[in-house]
Amino acid sequence: MNLFRTVALLAATLATVATDAALASDNRPAKATFGAMTLGSSQESQPIGFYAKGCQAGAMQLPYDGPNWQVMRLERNRRWGQPQMISFIQQLSRDAAARDGWPGLLIGDISQPRGGPMVNGHASHQIGLDADIWLSPMPRQRLTGQQREQLSSITMLKKGEYLTIDNRNWTEGQARLIMRAASYPQVQRVFVNPAIKKKLCETWRGDRTFMGKVRPIGGHDSHFHVRLYCPAGVPNCKAQPEIQPGDGCGKDLDAWFAPRPARKPTSPIKPPPKPRIMTVGDLPPACQSVLSASSRRGDDNMGMPYAPLASADSSVGTPITMLAAYQEKMTAPAAMATAAMPSEPAAVATAAEPQNPAAAGWIALPDKVPVPRVRPVY
Ligand SMILES: [Zn+2]
Repeated sequence: MNLFRTVALLAATLATVATDAALASDNRPAKATFGAMTLGSSQESQPIGFYAKGCQAGAMQLPYDGPNWQVMRLERNRRWGQPQMISFIQQLSRDAAARDGWPGLLIGDISQPRGGPMVNGHASHQIGLDADIWLSPMPRQRLTGQQREQLSSITMLKKGEYLTIDNRNWTEGQARLIMRAASYPQVQRVFVNPAIKKKLCETWRGDRTFMGKVRPIGGHDSHFHVRLYCPAGVPNCKAQPEIQPGDGCGKDLDAWFAPRPARKPTSPIKPPPKPRIMTVGDLPPACQSVLSASSRRGDDNMGMPYAPLASADSSVGTPITMLAAYQEKMTAPAAMATAAMPSEPAAVATAAEPQNPAAAGWIALPDKVPVPRVRPVY
């Protein structure tokens, strides 16, 4: 009997080893495989793995327009996140408008439909709990698909000077928006350029309880990056260590601004070994089920009502002409240039639409914004 039991146990162990080996040997390139997924998976929502090494199940799509936000770069198809992130963005956009007078959020990348590493940009943003939000205020008008691809975000730094804030672009509004984002209990970190962190350290006169969550990092001078905690009770989500106590304004920050020691000349450099391409098998095994799961219904609106921009017929918001005035990097094709930001808000939605949207390759937004479906609240 003992022998029988031993054989059975051995067989079971071998089967597990074989399954693990099969999972680990999934050699599909992770970036291309996740990048090819166009819809989220029809699974229960769940972040899997770490912010910079994982994927997401059951992602939701942020509608490209809301009362207080517009999503940029729609063609990237990276407005997918965990429900916690989608509702966070909506809440921040509402609170920033109502309490801080911020005209609305321009949303950059969240995650791919099933998360995972991306072909370009971002080491993180893999599990649907990271989002980029532009530091430029939302224009008053609803942007066309073409404008959402081509308008550049506005840097808060002076060109040609080392980590120096440009006070022509930086206002109290950006400070309030970043500090507002950091104030939510579900937010673990907010990444900004070191110059922005320094500016906040020096000038923020409000509640400093959450200053420590604002973390200095390279780049992030025209957008900030919000990272949410792993939701409670999701063992597959790998938490990031807590930040150190304190406001983060001390010597850690100074290190960014210290004069750099001159580099010693080095002897002929050995080329670094070629990094191995990350495969699906390198990610947590549950990510393979995410890839093979069926798609959730391809409804672009994903169960959430569109709402006309609250500011569309009011004087709230930055006129798009002002946003355009900042555009130093913008390379506008002829159609874009002639449509150059009409002063009539009503004209904006159609003026820059190409003659034949299908041929132009731009995402054509619907002419009319559907009326929101409002349910009575009891
Ligand atoms: Zn980011």
